[in-house]
Order: sequence, then C-alpha cells, then structure tokens
Amino acid sequence: MTGSKEKLETYYSEMEEGKLLHLAKYEFGDLDFDAKETLKSELAKRGLLGGKTLFLINRQEDEPDDIEVKSIAVHIQSQICPHCKKRKMSNAWVLPRRVGLVIFMLRQEELIFGCKDCVERKLRNRMLVSIFTLIPSIFFPLIPFFVVSDLALRKDIRESSEDIPSPDLLENIRRNIKTYRDLLF
Ligand SMILES: [Zn+2]
Repeated sequence: MTGSKEKLETYYSEMEEGKLLHLAKYEFGDLDFDAKETLKSELAKRGLLGGKTLFLINRQEDEPDDIEVKSIAVHIQSQICPHCKKRKMSNAWVLPRRVGLVIFMLRQEELIFGCKDCVERKLRNRMLVSIFTLIPSIFFPLIPFFVVSDLALRKDIRESSEDIPSPDLLENIRRNIKTYRDLLF
C-alpha cells in the first residue's frame, strides 16, 4: 500500500475548498483512517479546521440524541413563518401532493415549515389541485379516500400544540441531522 497516503494527499490538496468541506461535514464518518487523517491535515493546512468544522467532524459519527433533536426543533419553531412573515413558524408537517394526469398520478410528500394557518392553506390548495386534476383521470374513485385523509391531517395540524414539535419535524431532523448541525451550530 506504499504511496497510497501520498495519493490521498495529492487528491485532497487538489480538491476545491467547497468539496473538501462537504466531505468533512457530511461524509467524514464513511472514510477510512488514513483518509480521515489526510483530510484533517489538508483542512488544517488551509486554515479550515476551525471550531465549526471540527465540531461537525467530531459529531459526524454520533447518532442524533433526543436532547439535540429537541433543541434543534425548538430553534426552528422560534423562527418567523416563511410564508406570511407575521406569525411564529410553530412547526412543520409532511403534506402530500397528488396530481392526476389522465392515466397517471404523481404523488409526492414534502415537509412544509410554517405557522398553522399557512400550512393549512397549503394543504387546502394541494387538496383542490388533487381533486380537480383527479376528476378527469382514471383515479377519480380514489378522491373520497384522499379527501378523508387530507381532512384528518388538517384536523391534526389544527389541534396540534404550537409548543410541541410535530412528529414529522422530529423525524426530519433525525434523518438529516448532519445538515441541521451544519445550519445551526
Ligand atoms: Zn404563516
């Protein structure tokens, strides 16, 4: 394996800064020992191994713990709603999107951040799009089921507490913990 360390050194020394940082923040845990050491020394050489990058590298292989997830959620909930810019963000929910295309149906789920009013409005708009595009499609018999499920979701949103992070938000934070750590710390 002689020379592999040199190859690594050359590889990282030629890598552009953004890529190097991305590797450090998001993929460090997947590297082998030599690659980790070489990457760290290249970052240090360029003066990029500062507090935040080092923190992210060190936390990289840690699973998110409940306290960390909760504190990120509370931070998100204290932001202003990105849609109306008036109320507190309060939460995030996964909303379905269904669009009928005669014999096809596009289905997508998306986490939407916002205050209750704005998220409810988005859900209502998606419901209307779903109904109007599914009526002329072969999927029209499914419309009542979608309506029932959307109305149940709307009820959940309306009745949820603004102080308790929704399960959707907590799940999203857990799944994308590296991104959230990078954004918030
Ligand atoms: Zn709003």
